[in-house]
Amino acid sequence: MALLEINHLRKSYGQAEVLKNISLDVDRGEVIAIIGKSGSGKSTFLRCLNGLEVASSGDVTLDGVRLIQEEKSLKRLRLKVGMIFQQFNLFPHLSALDNVALGPRVVSGVAREIAQKKAHVMLDKVGLGARVHARPSELSGGQQQRVAIARALAMEPLILLCDEITSALDPELVGEVLAVVKHLAAEGMTLLMVTHEMRFARDVCTRVVFMHAGHIHEVGPPEEIFTAPKTPELRQFLGQ
Ligand code: ADP
Ligand code: MG
Repeated sequence: MALLEINHLRKSYGQAEVLKNISLDVDRGEVIAIIGKSGSGKSTFLRCLNGLEVASSGDVTLDGVRLIQEEKSLKRLRLKVGMIFQQFNLFPHLSALDNVALGPRVVSGVAREIAQKKAHVMLDKVGLGARVHARPSELSGGQQQRVAIARALAMEPLILLCDEITSALDPELVGEVLAVVKHLAAEGMTLLMVTHEMRFARDVCTRVVFMHAGHIHEVGPPEEIFTAPKTPELRQFLGQ
């Protein structure tokens, strides 16, 4: 059974259907890049998977548990699905360590000392073991995004969703964040990432999903998607 099973997912805002019948199975350890032009529904898709948005119809099953579109169940789901955004959304008045320890402490009720120990391990993992006491303003954008990754990892997610996590960074800082993601992928983390980093998608991802006008227009291994696109829409997108 796939870790994540998405069946006939639809989402409308008023009259506008922005996700049109999306089905996708994601196996454990898969690293999937989601590409497509602005407005094609990539963010809405990820947001429906972690319960930030309620789908209009269809169903999502994670680790054998069907996601029920109801607040209590969505809350539980959010704990198992990590999400990282373009904006880091760190608390400015808290150290990196406290930012990472906060989720386990407040959401999962883990004791302060244990949560901090765990935060240390996670910050080490993203290469920030020496900066645990720094506040966000004392860190570069790349470092702040790595703190945000550590924060997501501290909740021990089954799957990590990344929505253009390098898009707000200066070009010279993109590499350090992608290196962390690559490391997580090598460790077996299941990842779904919306990205414009085509080289990364080609080198690291097991599959690429091309979204167009609210549906999955093409999906396949990177070598197929990038070298033998089947539809004019994907050809045009890659040509840009
Ligand atoms: P992408 O991430 O691929 O750029 P989005 O998922 O953000 O696309 O948006 C898909 C479509 O849904 C767009 O047309 C967008 O304007 C619309 N949309 C997104 N969020 C909302 C919302 N909260 N209310 C109404 N329309 C929305
Ligand atoms: Mg988006």
